[in-house]
Amino acid sequence: MILQDLLMNLKSWIEIPAGSDFPLENLPFGIGRSREGEIAAYTRIGDTAVNLAALDASGVFTGMAFDYSAAFRQPVLNDFIAMGEAAHRALRKALQAFFAAGNKPDATLIKSLTGKVLFPAASVEMLMPVKVTDYTDFYSSIEHATNVGKMFRDPANALLPNWRHLPVGYHGRASSIVISGTDIRRPRGQTMPAGADAPVFGPSKMLDFELEMAFVVGKSTSLGEPVAAAGAEDYIFGFLLFNDLSARDIQSWEYVPLGPFLSKNFGSVVSPWIVTLEALEPFRVKGPEQEPGVLPYLKTEGLRNFDINLEVLIRPDNGTENIVCRSNFRHMYWNICQQLAHHTVNGCNINTGDLYASGTISGPEPGSYGSMLELTWRGTHPIRLSDGTERKFVNDHDAVIMRGYAERDGLRIGFGECRTKILPALT
Ligand code: MN
Repeated sequence: MILQDLLMNLKSWIEIPAGSDFPLENLPFGIGRSREGEIAAYTRIGDTAVNLAALDASGVFTGMAFDYSAAFRQPVLNDFIAMGEAAHRALRKALQAFFAAGNKPDATLIKSLTGKVLFPAASVEMLMPVKVTDYTDFYSSIEHATNVGKMFRDPANALLPNWRHLPVGYHGRASSIVISGTDIRRPRGQTMPAGADAPVFGPSKMLDFELEMAFVVGKSTSLGEPVAAAGAEDYIFGFLLFNDLSARDIQSWEYVPLGPFLSKNFGSVVSPWIVTLEALEPFRVKGPEQEPGVLPYLKTEGLRNFDINLEVLIRPDNGTENIVCRSNFRHMYWNICQQLAHHTVNGCNINTGDLYASGTISGPEPGSYGSMLELTWRGTHPIRLSDGTERKFVNDHDAVIMRGYAERDGLRIGFGECRTKILPALT
């Protein structure tokens, strides 16, 4: 594909506000509930949510090689995702043709679609887009791993010996992954305060976010069948923003020797729209140089990273949004193909609907660190918000908001936002 084809600047007869995350080149997929309570698959163009089940019922896809009707009526996208790449590409083409500016339907048809197929995006409640079958969290940012190593281990030897040889990860918990807009209660748990000789129980005092992206698996494998790094993208449907909420005080006491547990599984938040790999094609970039070289099964060619601007904001209760972090997905040391190849090299099978999160995405500069732990250096350099208050970690009633978008030559492909509010711990 040549660049001109990728950057075609499609015009639509649906109004797309300047700077929208959702031009006709994006066409992300999500699950929405209308005010009438009907749940269906949706895509989004500008500020318009498009009910795909209703669009299908209107006959727009008649004559296509794929029948989407059953998949669009499911409460999750797993069946649609499992239809495969050819079905997704054909649908994308059909949607881009139907909504193209040059193909504007007559006023009668537009009127009949309004409120049946086309809705103001704000009137549709977004739900979990997939049934998350399994969830893994990686640790693939070298800046993040280095910062954590400096704080908790040895500043001179921050990276553990395995880090540059394999994409470190752990099996997480699928049950507590929730959609943007879901409030999360501050967890209670066991911690070992500095200087104490016995652990105490209570609300976490070091509640943190982790700025991450996650990919959704689009194709299943059988047990015993590894995915080669070279073809790994065939197994990836698209991306979401991912907030891996973390309780640092619980984490530092519990994680030895088997890794994160209750400090991580009390709630992780995803953005509602899955942005497909296809929509992100124009934003491919080369990843960081890997030194030393990796084992043959982890070798990848070409542009396997993505230039996606990311930001995290904290909004105090009834306050204004404060940007606390600006990072970029391109910083990832280990790419998604290497993550999937490593995950399956032992024969571990994967399923449509699996979620693989990147790990905290920190950049090289202090303002680009993807967690409060790093931004405030374990609380030693608090962040001052616009209302004059300070944050070492996340307070009760704070909303944590993540946004992401890729942009070049006038084309912007965005993710919308991933938002959660922290509720006080149970008493
Ligand atoms: Mn994480």
